Amino acid sequence: MADNSRSILVVGLGRFGSAVATTLDAMGQDVLAVDKNLELVNRWSSQIPTVQADMTDVLALEQLNVSDFNTAIVAIGDSVEASVITTGNLLDAGISDIWAKSVSQEHARILQRIGARHIINAETDAGKRVGHLVSGNYLDYIEIEGAHTVVKIHTPRHVSGYSIEDAKVHERYGITVVGIKSPGKEFQYGSKELVMHRNDELILMGKEDQIERFIRG
Ligand code: ADP
Repeated sequence: MADNSRSILVVGLGRFGSAVATTLDAMGQDVLAVDKNLELVNRWSSQIPTVQADMTDVLALEQLNVSDFNTAIVAIGDSVEASVITTGNLLDAGISDIWAKSVSQEHARILQRIGARHIINAETDAGKRVGHLVSGNYLDYIEIEGAHTVVKIHTPRHVSGYSIEDAKVHERYGITVVGIKSPGKEFQYGSKELVMHRNDELILMGKEDQIERFIRG
């Protein structure tokens, strides 16, 4: 029998699921992608291993030996009912590491309640990120957990010309300078003697309100 112990099951080959599946495949992971829509299965079959099946159907799950998979991504957004039933079926089959895409807060709450370990609010997350980028303060923005973020900004005027230590970045604002990228130079990790210049890009880690205070000075 094939050893699927480290393989990943992706259910749903829409834009989200196909992007996850092809990325995992490109990273050398062992992926099986499933969709009930034969046309989509055929479209992706030359790139990644695919199977047509309706994953709300317990018999189909048994035929695919889904209990051999450690991780599953439920990328079904066109039917909340199918997403929830599929997630429940995969949990019942013993897959504990489930990443499920949600399309609303209610959907996310149900997925969490039935035991999905990771909930992905793809559109809300993308919307928040775009909001932060459009606001103009951030060159890049990643939400790590709750209010904790990693952001890329230009050096604020008030610390320009100061080292990380002299500007007391951590003591005053509670944030960490992870690294500095000066134009035309290599990225440098944020050691305390590094000087922040106006045109540098700083990678910061901290809570959003602390970073806002640091930007304002
Ligand atoms: P996106 O918004 O990421 O483009 P959708 O959420 O619209 O994608 O796509 C969901 C995919 O999940 C569709 O391709 C659909 O055929 C598939 N799907 C829906 N229900 C099931 C199911 N019960 N079993 C397998 N695949 C399903």
